[in-house]
Amino acid sequence: MTSPALHLAGVVLPEGEHRDVWVRDGRFTFQPVPGAETISRDGWLIPGLVDAHCHVGIGAGGASVDDREVTRQQALDERDAGVLALRDCGSPVDTRYLDDDPELPRIVRAGRHIAAPRRYIPGLAVEVDPADLVAEVRAQARRGDGWVKLVGDWIDRGVGDLAPEWPADVVAAAIVAAHEEGARVTAHTFGTDALPGLLRAGIDCIEHGSGLTEDLIGLMASNGTAVVPTLVNVENFPGFAAAGEARFPAYASTMRRLYASSGAVVRAAFEAGVPVFAGTDAGGGIEHGRIADEIRALRDAGLPAEAALAAGSWAARAWLGLACIEEGAAADLVVYDADPRRDLDTLQRPRLRVLRGRVVG
Ligand SMILES: [Zn+2]
Repeated sequence: MTSPALHLAGVVLPEGEHRDVWVRDGRFTFQPVPGAETISRDGWLIPGLVDAHCHVGIGAGGASVDDREVTRQQALDERDAGVLALRDCGSPVDTRYLDDDPELPRIVRAGRHIAAPRRYIPGLAVEVDPADLVAEVRAQARRGDGWVKLVGDWIDRGVGDLAPEWPADVVAAAIVAAHEEGARVTAHTFGTDALPGLLRAGIDCIEHGSGLTEDLIGLMASNGTAVVPTLVNVENFPGFAAAGEARFPAYASTMRRLYASSGAVVRAAFEAGVPVFAGTDAGGGIEHGRIADEIRALRDAGLPAEAALAAGSWAARAWLGLACIEEGAAADLVVYDADPRRDLDTLQRPRLRVLRGRVVG
């Protein structure tokens, strides 16, 4: 299928220069293309937003949804918000059929969550004993698109509080195995105790990371380990605390403490040089399409507005191995009427989306 050549002009971010950009055969070029249709003459051109942590295939209430119309709509809701690439941070459903749909954002998958038995939301994760973790990590590395997702901590009902899911030596072997398979590893953690083992083993990213301490942030900065704070989801911590209060008061108090320090943790990680990326954790309790809220939350936590935008756009694309608005790159961009670096609320109103060289939405 050949799409007609397109022409746009505007301020190209992150460079910030006014340029003319052409799209031909699904790719950008800065060389004029005769006969190209001009679709935008002004505005700010960014290489699309990135939701670096969401779930396609998890529906309301945290249930697995193996319905093509529902998963397609989840991806469409992300795209309509300006998300042209997302990292699916664990899905019980193999949604690879969505890759054939040119209307949908690019999806970088992490396979299924891997959790210890009865240590995650029921029905979502592959649940394995520690002895089987390495083999399962290899299997999920082959199922995903270069990422493996571990559940690093969860409530331990015996302890009555958050606790690590895996012995440190087992998780270290699992991370080695994933790297041998060519996959990066990330882990869900809310609390602190699972983090030293994961970080010392060379994990590539931490999801949520609300339990990070100054020492652990220093370790991440020196190792280049990223964090995706999912502040939109951290807003639910007081609700989690209230729901667990009667049976698990220690857990409830931990969740309230983590909530209270969450903004300061994100700011400290950013200031220490830890790569911070924007992810909403949509799927389950959070609607898809809220990336602008997460970018604003990163700004409110203390990131400069431009850094918060980078965390949900060009920096995140580079981290996922996707190009930006460059000669020869796949033509993905979103046009805004105003400079989103100056006013992040602009992100709520994308004017035009080009994905794989076609206008979508
Ligand atoms: Zn998640």
